Amino acid sequence: MFILVINCGSSSVKYQLFDVAKKKCRAKGLVERIGRAGACKDHRAAIGIIVNTLTKKRGGVIKSINDIRGIGHRVVHGGEEFKESTLITKKVVRSIEKYSELAPLHNPPSLSGIRGCSEILKGIPQVAVFDTSFHQTMPQRAFLYGLPSRYYKRYGIRRYGFHGTSHRFVSEEAARILRRPAKSLKLVTCHLGNGCSMTAVSGGKSIDTSMGFTPLEGLLMGTRSGDLDPAAVIYILQKEKLTLARVNDILNKESGLLGVSGVSNDMRDILKKAKNNGNTAKRCKTAIDIFIYRIKKYIGAYQAAMGGLDAVIFTAGVGENNPWIVRRISKDLKDVVSGKVKFLTIPTNEELLIARDTYEIIKKG
Ligand code: ADP
Repeated sequence: MFILVINCGSSSVKYQLFDVAKKKCRAKGLVERIGRAGACKDHRAAIGIIVNTLTKKRGGVIKSINDIRGIGHRVVHGGEEFKESTLITKKVVRSIEKYSELAPLHNPPSLSGIRGCSEILKGIPQVAVFDTSFHQTMPQRAFLYGLPSRYYKRYGIRRYGFHGTSHRFVSEEAARILRRPAKSLKLVTCHLGNGCSMTAVSGGKSIDTSMGFTPLEGLLMGTRSGDLDPAAVIYILQKEKLTLARVNDILNKESGLLGVSGVSNDMRDILKKAKNNGNTAKRCKTAIDIFIYRIKKYIGAYQAAMGGLDAVIFTAGVGENNPWIVRRISKDLKDVVSGKVKFLTIPTNEELLIARDTYEIIKKG
């Protein structure tokens, strides 16, 4: 029995095929450059390519599409409606469409992937697993901004949080590794990839997270600014007479590690250049300092929010591959947190969690 996991981006579709009985990924891959000249036409066509690659007649791992019992889709935004993963029905598709307004770059490609699967893999149940669901347990005091309340009512302006599948996966893994029930644990999970976010997970539930209405808020990221005073944006807008589209690009694509270092959005390049002398090295060191400082600040804030702390979990590209950063944070915090607090590195596996949720939901029928 196989579960197909699909992750549609604006110009790519990533997939993994899981053998449920053996709890193993049997095939994975990526269709890129969707919509570009000479490449795959659209997401539907990409699903067609994936299905052809997977079926035996093309040398793949399954005999026919009937071996696929369920399809799990990563969907970025489920608004306030989806508090957990859900079987995809026409009504669910309409809701995902509605939340495209909140995630215009992410939800539409997922919808194309869902529609492609409905046509090509007709009759196979599909499940949506949302990046936002895990954070739906946040209390109002954590998710509301200090804006006039009409904006929450009119437009749903609030903290939603993202990377939920990853935070949930590593927090469950942490409970397993620490041999303690999730209900008894106070954890801070740090997803440090190109996009970075942190979550306070108390008793297995997200009670606060650093990303907000969009994935721009919080930590310093590869190219996103993270936390800043909105008045600074208004000031720059006025001074440089920028368009809204331009300022959006600056905050999302030209800031963060890239903006501060002037070198790269990739932590590996920055760590390397920081070892040299001169102005570039100085800027790289500053970028690393801000990156680490914010993580420490959020750990302290979340420890206070949860009224305690048992472990800090690091995951994703930087978190999994850079023990130096993890060591430095734990060393810097040794006089702040109790000696019993564990600092753990746990590889994330969002696809596995999507496959598990999909299996559980289709099993229930
Ligand atoms: P994404 O958010 O795109 O899924 P990943 O979780 O794969 O990203 O993380 C990508 C980032 O991980 C890269 O930009 C790079 O900064 C960082 N990274 C990968 N390997 C290392 C390493 N050995 N040391 C430091 N950073 C690393």
